[in-house]
Amino acid sequence: MRINRIFRLGIGAIAVALAATACGGGSDAGTATDHAREGKLTIGIKFDQPGLGFRDKDGAYQGYEVEIAKYVAGKLGVQSDKITFKEAPSAKRETMIMNGEVDFIVATYSITDGRKEKVDFAGPYFVAGQALLVKKENTEITGVESLVGNKKLCSVKGSTPAQNVKDNYAKDVQLVEVDNYSQCIEALRSGSVDAVTTDDIVLAGYSGQSPGELKLVGKLFTTERYGIGLKKGDQETRTKINDAIEAMIADGSWQKAFEETFGSLGTMTLTPPTVDRY
Ligand code: GLU
Repeated sequence: MRINRIFRLGIGAIAVALAATACGGGSDAGTATDHAREGKLTIGIKFDQPGLGFRDKDGAYQGYEVEIAKYVAGKLGVQSDKITFKEAPSAKRETMIMNGEVDFIVATYSITDGRKEKVDFAGPYFVAGQALLVKKENTEITGVESLVGNKKLCSVKGSTPAQNVKDNYAKDVQLVEVDNYSQCIEALRSGSVDAVTTDDIVLAGYSGQSPGELKLVGKLFTTERYGIGLKKGDQETRTKINDAIEAMIADGSWQKAFEETFGSLGTMTLTPPTVDRY
């Protein structure tokens, strides 16, 4: 009898421990599709990247990736007002997905083999490339080939451009790594770094904020395919998000969202990427 009681207590303790693990990330267990069926989603975006993922003074979310997140959520059956947006800094994205802190992430998140070991990606929904941003008056930095003479280059921890600088340009430049790109922009404005490097579209978002002050220089020197990051192995949600991205491209909302948030393209047209159902 006594043994039996201890045994039962033991099982109870295990059950409590398992429940605690499932809740470890602050959100309940279940896939993104389960959460969508319950009518709510938590989506990671950037909070400080103008035109892409931006939280304004009043706490409203704006940007191309906010629109993509809303469209995808809609296709999963979730209204915009039932989305909780969470800030997903570059270095924390894999962890946030693995911990279940977010259902998925739409945050200038390049699809890479390294990241695919920890998370899965739907998409791509956009293709960008690494570029350089300098002050308007800078004539020394004209492109990646001018990165000589120990210039100070700012980028963000956990990002592919910072890794690319470490891998390929470490002997020619000093890399200053910070937590988000707005800190890099501040450093550029104050003159404590010579350039900021990340994807062209991210840089264009900042330079568009203060025309005439900052400029993008040189050619793009990487290809960054933006995916929607989600829990590894959640094939059901990945297929649904891929379907949503294709629908968004096909019905014109993809291009419209870009023009309405990021800016008019004038006569230019955007080429939509092909979704990769790997
Ligand atoms: N697309 C790159 C990346 O995923 C740079 C932009 C970012 O840090 O969000 O690392």
